[in-house]
Amino acid sequence: MIPLVKVAMPDPGLLMPALQSVLYSGQIGEGEKVYEFERVFRDHFGYPNVLSMSSGTGALHTALQLAGVGPGDEVVTTSMTAEPTNMTILHCGATPVFADVVPDSGNLSPESVAECITAKTRAIMVVHYSGVPARMEELRKVADHHGLALIEDCAHALGARYQGKPIGSLGDFAIFSLQAIKHMTTVDGGFLCLKDAKLMEKARKIRWFGLLKGTVRTEADVDIPGYKYNMNNVTATIGLAQMVGIDHVVDTFRENGLFFDRAIGKIPGLRTAAFEPCAMPSYWLSTVLSDDPSDVERRLAECGVTASKLHRPNHLHRIFSTRQWILPGLERYYRRMIHIPCGWWVTPEDRERIVQALSRG
Ligand SMILES: *Cc1c(COP(=O)(O)O)cnc(C)c1O
Repeated sequence: MIPLVKVAMPDPGLLMPALQSVLYSGQIGEGEKVYEFERVFRDHFGYPNVLSMSSGTGALHTALQLAGVGPGDEVVTTSMTAEPTNMTILHCGATPVFADVVPDSGNLSPESVAECITAKTRAIMVVHYSGVPARMEELRKVADHHGLALIEDCAHALGARYQGKPIGSLGDFAIFSLQAIKHMTTVDGGFLCLKDAKLMEKARKIRWFGLLKGTVRTEADVDIPGYKYNMNNVTATIGLAQMVGIDHVVDTFRENGLFFDRAIGKIPGLRTAAFEPCAMPSYWLSTVLSDDPSDVERRLAECGVTASKLHRPNHLHRIFSTRQWILPGLERYYRRMIHIPCGWWVTPEDRERIVQALSRG
């Protein structure tokens, strides 16, 4: 079966000598390899203020704290995401408030976000679900109108663009995940991108026990609670090897995703996830919308292709059911959606076969 998601590892000829060297270098913690990876990521993808992290979850938790989210606050967010997006809001002592999504994309509806804002709202959390950019220009306006921080969870969206700029550029904060099955993996890891360079020092402190690397430990005076959210030289070495081929990886996801948009869009009764003309997705997954997603699943299973949903809308979890959520847009999206594989492991023959299987009848 062609899987929905797959781990991408660099060529062993490139990775293994570098890994062997770092593992026995005596410097396996946070050090030069980490800072080199940060610089290469920053310059390649175009994020001026970037910090490497131990995970996307750690990056989200740090972004929320930098946005000033604390006990009693509300964060307007989406239920259509992986759990870390909303779990980290709980970690801050705050309450996730689920705005509705647009049924043709699964991404936040700016109108619904605006309706969810109260005096307690501290931030807006947006996810570019499956790698399709949300309606950022409108969301930025809503955030500015109410003086709120805008946090972009770009865990699915490495390499996506919006208004000609890298995804994450409109938010005050953006995070990426380098977990096993994302576009790029370091086994585990993440990045935090900040609009405001002045927050970099505080972000570094949150990343590492409230301390700044390089200061004399016996003379440091910790003034905020920090965590153990730093990256290490071993995973950064994997990241540096990944950077060599990352454009090809992202381009292949995108080419397959655009192919499916064109071909599946012509099949009566089927649609793919919608986005604005100013957006360019990075298609971590391709999403087919239809009245009968189990039929799509069956047809593809018959020709050896996995199709499935991936996440449970978070408001259905007991821990997030603090009130009766009314989300008709999400219900419609979730009922009609199914993901199909579109990564680098899907060949041109595979994608023809997928479209043919969906075209029959
Ligand atoms: C993968 C993921 C994360 C968190 O990433 P980790 O690196 O596993 O902590 C956050 N948000 C979304 C939407 C994700 O899919």
